[in-house]
Amino acid sequence: MLIENYAKEKNITLQTIKANWLEHAQVNLNILRLDELHKIVSGNKWFKLKYYLQDAKIKGFDTIATFGGAYSNHIIATAFACEQEGLKSIGIIRGEKPEQLNSTLIKAQEYGMQLKFMSRAEYKNKEACKQQLRNVYWINEGGYGAFGVKGACEIVTLVKDINAYTHIVCAMGTGTTLAGIIQASTPVQKIIGISAMKGNAALTQQVKQLLLPQYSDKQFCILHDYHFGGYAKYNPELISFMNEVWHKHNLPTDFVYTAKTLYAIKHLITTNAFTPCCKILMIHTGGLQGNLSLPPGTLPF
Ligand SMILES: *Cc1c(COP(=O)(O)O)cnc(C)c1O
Repeated sequence: MLIENYAKEKNITLQTIKANWLEHAQVNLNILRLDELHKIVSGNKWFKLKYYLQDAKIKGFDTIATFGGAYSNHIIATAFACEQEGLKSIGIIRGEKPEQLNSTLIKAQEYGMQLKFMSRAEYKNKEACKQQLRNVYWINEGGYGAFGVKGACEIVTLVKDINAYTHIVCAMGTGTTLAGIIQASTPVQKIIGISAMKGNAALTQQVKQLLLPQYSDKQFCILHDYHFGGYAKYNPELISFMNEVWHKHNLPTDFVYTAKTLYAIKHLITTNAFTPCCKILMIHTGGLQGNLSLPPGTLPF
């Protein structure tokens, strides 16, 4: 399948971060650069989509439909992956149709996605939305579900010496990616999810529901204190952190997920939450196209 070929071809790199704060804590930090998969299409979303698209084809569907916000990484990834796979796609977009489409939606359309706008009230009732379209294969918002987890497990296989890591850290929206990482990790590895939302208390249960029975006892930890005001919210401190990370490490991050995750890691390390000799793997889940929603000139990359 194309997504896999891409992963091989692009030779996703593992970036070692060198910084005083890491040296001081005697902690290692490597970053799996899934953002390198594609400039526009986000890293983890491809993995989550793979088995849904396969299932849709097996079941004889020619059209995929899914949900997302106007800057959704999932929407653009679905549009692109469907185009690659020769499937039609429909995106149900939250909110009224704007006079001018943003960059994400223009791109999604270019990849052949048909956009349908729903008011926020309508959008809340997913089942009613689904009734409006027949003979399409539905994928949950954010790719939440068992097939998403199955694909996310494969992220971990990109790292050769994965067993060398004591901790794996990943940003969370629906928790599907984290569930895949939990299942693919060794029993002794500690898995930490950084929630992109403010006070999403349901997240732990949401992840547990996704885990196959044999993994249901596996421990994981979700941190809820790094949302910077809420989902897709930011402040000057976050932006200046992103700028610093770019200048010092040549590492681009997105303001919704990966910048907050790396910020969390740095904060945890500088407050001695990790003992010396810990080896941390952060999954860079991509999402860079979302930065286009920031005012022009906010970021240098
Ligand atoms: C969607 C997304 C996530 C969250 O993934 P979930 O599987 O929904 O938890 C994290 N990072 C980026 C960049 C994303 O686009």
